[in-house]
Amino acid sequence: MDQTRSRALFAEAVRCIPGGVNSPVRAFGSVGGTPPFIERGAGARLWDADGNEYIDFVASWGPLILGHAYPPVVRRLEEALGKGTSFGAPVAVELALAQTICRLVPSVEKVRLVSSGTEATMSAIRLARGFTGRRKILKFEGCYHGHADAFLVKAGSGVATLGIPGCPGIPAEVSGLTLTVPYNDAAAVTDVVRREAADLACVIVEPVAANMGVVPPADGFLPFLREITAAHGILLVFDEVITGFRLGLGGAQAHYGVTPDLTTLGKIIGGGLPVGAYGGRADVMAHVAPAGPVYQAGTLSGNPLAVTAGLATLEALEQMERDEGLYARLARLGGHLADGIRRDLERLNLCLTLNTAGSMATLFFTDGAVRDFAAAARSDTKRYGRYFWEMLRRGIYLAPSQFEACFISAVHTEADLELFLKANYEALKVAFEK
Ligand SMILES: *Cc1c(COP(=O)(O)O)cnc(C)c1O
Repeated sequence: MDQTRSRALFAEAVRCIPGGVNSPVRAFGSVGGTPPFIERGAGARLWDADGNEYIDFVASWGPLILGHAYPPVVRRLEEALGKGTSFGAPVAVELALAQTICRLVPSVEKVRLVSSGTEATMSAIRLARGFTGRRKILKFEGCYHGHADAFLVKAGSGVATLGIPGCPGIPAEVSGLTLTVPYNDAAAVTDVVRREAADLACVIVEPVAANMGVVPPADGFLPFLREITAAHGILLVFDEVITGFRLGLGGAQAHYGVTPDLTTLGKIIGGGLPVGAYGGRADVMAHVAPAGPVYQAGTLSGNPLAVTAGLATLEALEQMERDEGLYARLARLGGHLADGIRRDLERLNLCLTLNTAGSMATLFFTDGAVRDFAAAARSDTKRYGRYFWEMLRRGIYLAPSQFEACFISAVHTEADLELFLKANYEALKVAFEK
């Protein structure tokens, strides 16, 4: 695999960008080597600066459920572009996106659009604190909610990949207000709530964890969270930045039938451009400025280009769901991939753990069940790194970290999955050679 051009670009990048990347997960620290520089994408395919072609299972870390340069989204963006890129004033298309989100996501009666998932979660906990008058929040080990101060405590994604427990630059007075317990551990939640309820503003959770690798909620875990928070006047926040419009048009909350007080969204709702959102109960959202006193703002919030891409994406998803049952098809493709991976593991006599949820999957390089971060962290990340490179060489583009999800999109075909499985068998074989 020729990497001449990408390597040269990366060598220049490290001289002017910290670590050569604008988000740590893009660096290849945990798998070794240097990242391909991507030149273009179309559908499920990517091409890098050296002309290598890949089938993409990263989907820009989740947003691209329609694949790259999906023609209806591109057309709408082209139309919007000629009319101006930003006004800092209300536009009809942001209203249409907000209405679509309110109509489709069960908990969302009102919604505020922002420009990233981080802004959404950061604003949601400010609102939870402002609404309840309480200071503390409870999150789960290995869940990632963006990079705001309050969340970089036992966080997932890049934080887990780099193996940093906390983060310099965040005062203990701030991180001390973030309590953490293991994912899926109802007893630990009960303990914390019993002790801290009077000062606990919210519990924030990824309803399907996808930033320590994919870890679905145990049976009854989400209903339990709903019940215990409601009983103590604690707000329940579902961080659906990944699961929103990924598990279904109503996100994980519709899928599991549990309605949180607040929901955060991002990734898919921007269709590949920067959009985030937080929304929920009307009485809680009434506290957001200018309707209420909890301040939150953004020069580029509701940006016409970004909301155009988001709206075009959600409309395409709704159309596909009506026409062909998109989410059932994605789940079928996910099941097909999972069956194939399990067959490969059997043929190679390997005992690894595969977790799946709809169109998301993670193959953990460990043999025990993975229900929380401690279990995920037992994975052999060095061997994952070998597997990762063997897959990349065979044209399969995966996340350069064990603690991420593999995403199937609407443009992946069964033939693409067959190519994945062919590479998977060979890559696992090489990765486990002595
Ligand atoms: C990606 C992600 C975020 C952060 O979104 P950004 O747009 O990267 O700021 C927050 N929560 C979850 C669950 C995510 O996966």
